Amino acid sequence: MTWRASILSLFPEMFPGSLGHSLAGRALERGVWSLAVHDLRAHGIGRHRAVDDTPFGGGAGMVMRADVVDTALSAHIAQDDPRPRVYLTPRGRRLQQDDARRYAAGPGVILLCGRYEGVDERVLEMHGIEQVSVGDYVLSGGEPAALVLLDTAIRLLPGVMGAQDSAGEESFSLGLLEYPHYTRPAVWRGCAVPDALLSGNHAAIAAWRGAAAERDTQARRPDLWQAHLQGQAPARLLADPSRTA
Ligand code: SAM
Repeated sequence: MTWRASILSLFPEMFPGSLGHSLAGRALERGVWSLAVHDLRAHGIGRHRAVDDTPFGGGAGMVMRADVVDTALSAHIAQDDPRPRVYLTPRGRRLQQDDARRYAAGPGVILLCGRYEGVDERVLEMHGIEQVSVGDYVLSGGEPAALVLLDTAIRLLPGVMGAQDSAGEESFSLGLLEYPHYTRPAVWRGCAVPDALLSGNHAAIAAWRGAAAERDTQARRPDLWQAHLQGQAPARLLADPSRTA
């Protein structure tokens, strides 16, 4: 069954963007996933199709109106549509690889892209919309964030990645960053590839990669490393004979 993405945006021409190319683009052509993009401006108010207004309480910027977003959602999305509804916002919970897996395992997603200062909170609550951020920085609009979320999910859909691009060993799949990669030439500008990777010994290669993944995770992502250690703790304690006495 086709995985369905619906987008509500003030800039529908930004889609499919990068998702029209490479793996996702080919999958779109093959019908593995489908894309419907709806222009929020079409639901704007009055002759000027206004979609925003000044914030109650004062302050800079404009806010996207609840009634406009509500009309757009009601026009394009059935009330009983089972897909998760997501508003991309820096105020949301941070997107994780587990979310990508969850979205990919479902029937698709409905994404609302904000502009200006964001969307009136009431319409998000009224429509049960999840709030998701793609990282701790502020973009000028939700469209690039929607492309990121879609990319993470679409590449996990059955048949999108080839067998050789398996997601099983990727960064985050085992709670660690992935090990570094090398290819030919074996020596480049005097820099040699680590011996273990040239050894042909599968156990030595796996050991080198495991150690490199741990080293890099510890150095670059102390948050992941701590979570990994906590997850590993019972096994490590049991395996440590000095602890069992
Ligand atoms: N005033 C908002 C704040 O401080 O949280 C930022 C608004 S931003 C300029 C405009 C829109 O870009 C947001 O409504 C949201 O849709 C999108 N956006 C910006 N940063 C994002 C992020 N890190 N993740 C997801 N969406 C983001």
